[in-house]
Amino acid sequence: MSQTESTTSPETKASPWWQRIPLTLQILIALVVAVSVGIALGAGNPNPSNATLINNLAIPAELVLKALRALATPLILVAVLHTLMTTNIPGTAGRRLAVLLLTNTTVAILVGLLVANVLRPGTWGNVTTSTSTEITPQSLDPWGILKDAVPEAVLKPLVDNNVIQLIVIALSFGIVLRGLKSEQITQGKNGYQPIEDVIGILFEAVVRILNWVIALVPFAVFGIVAKTIAMQGFAPFKSLGAFIVAVLLALVLQACYYLTRVKFGSWVHPLKFLTGGSDAFLTAFSTSSSAAAMPVTFEVLQTKVGLRESSAALGALVGANFNNDGTALYEAMSALYISQLIGQHLSLGQQLIVILTSIFASVGAANIPNAGLVTMTLVFTSVGLPTQYIALLVTVDWFLDRCRTAINVMGDMTVSALLDGKKPRSVDEA
Ligand code: ASP
Repeated sequence: MSQTESTTSPETKASPWWQRIPLTLQILIALVVAVSVGIALGAGNPNPSNATLINNLAIPAELVLKALRALATPLILVAVLHTLMTTNIPGTAGRRLAVLLLTNTTVAILVGLLVANVLRPGTWGNVTTSTSTEITPQSLDPWGILKDAVPEAVLKPLVDNNVIQLIVIALSFGIVLRGLKSEQITQGKNGYQPIEDVIGILFEAVVRILNWVIALVPFAVFGIVAKTIAMQGFAPFKSLGAFIVAVLLALVLQACYYLTRVKFGSWVHPLKFLTGGSDAFLTAFSTSSSAAAMPVTFEVLQTKVGLRESSAALGALVGANFNNDGTALYEAMSALYISQLIGQHLSLGQQLIVILTSIFASVGAANIPNAGLVTMTLVFTSVGLPTQYIALLVTVDWFLDRCRTAINVMGDMTVSALLDGKKPRSVDEA
C-alpha cells in the first residue's frame, strides 16, 4: 500500500491520471523541477526583485506542516484508543511484551542520539536561520516533566499539541474503555460496541485526511527545495546527505542490536531470522507501512522462521501497534539534526526530553506511511525547536520512511522471537 493507496476506496479507480503516479515518483519529479527553478532563481545569489516570489514558494510547505501539526494529536489519540479497544493482550505475556517494547525503543533512541552526536550531520552544511525561529531554552527538570504530564483539562493536550499529556489521556481512556468492554462481554452485554465503532471510524477518517495532506507533499517539496536552492544554493543539502547517511547507519546498528538479542535471547538463528523475515522487510520497505506488512510478518514468523502462533501474534499483531523503534530513532535524530543545523544547542536535559517525547510519539505513530513525520512535530515542540524545519526533512522522508518502517517490522519480529523463548516449537505444537 502506498501513501495514496492506503485508504483505497472503489472511487479511487476513477481518479485522475496524476493521482495514479506513485507518490515517490511525484516527489522525485518535484525535486528535479525544484532544482531547475532554484538554479534559475539564483542558486544562492537571488535577484532582490524575485524576493517575494522566492518567499512565496515556501507557502505549500508551511500549509502542509500546519496541517500535519493539526492532525498529530487526533491521530495519536484515536490510534492509541483504537489499539487498546481492539487488541487482545493476555496478562503475563502482556507485561513481558511491554518491557521488551520499552527496552527496544529506548535502545533505538539512544543509538540514534549517539550517532547524531558523534557524526553531527547538521554541521556538514550551512543553513541560514529563519528569522521566525523561536528559541525556548529549557533545562532538565524531572519534577517539571512529571508535573507537566498531568493536563489541566482533558482536551487541553489536543489544543496545546502536548504529546506526553496526550498519551496520558489516551492511555487512561483506552485502559478504562478496554476494562469496560471486557466487563460487558462477561455480562453478555454489548453497549461498548457503538463506542468501538465510532473510534474505528474516527481513526479511518483521520487517516484519510492525512492522505489528502500527504498527496500535497510533492508541492511542498518543490516549494521548499526551490526556495532553499534559490536563497542558499546547495549547501543545506550537503548536510541533508550526511543526515541520510547517519540515519541509515543508526538503523543498521539497531538491526545489529536486534540480531544480537535474537541470538542470545531466543532459539532462532539470526541468519534464519533474516532470510525467513525477508518478505516482511521487503513489504515494509516497499509500502512504507508496517500495518500493510503486518499479515506478511505474522505469516513468515510462523512458516519461515518457525515461531509459535502465540508469539508471532503478540509481537507482529499486538506489539506492532505500539512498537515503532525505527520511528522513535528517526524522530530523536531529526530533532538533534535540526538543532545542529540551526545552531540551537540541545542540552543533555533537552535530549532527555527528546527521548521521552520520542518514545511517546512513536507509540502514537500509526503504522501508516509518513506517520512519523506527523508526530515529529510534537517532539520538536517539546524542546522549542522550530517546526518549519521539518519541511526540509519532508524532502527525504519518502526514502527514510521506507527504511525505518523495515526496522519497525524487524523490531516486532525480534519481540516475537524473544517471546518464543529458547526452546523451538515441538512437532506436536506445529
Ligand atoms: N511508516 C511507518 C510505519 O508504518 C511509520 C512512520 O512514519 O514512521 O511503521
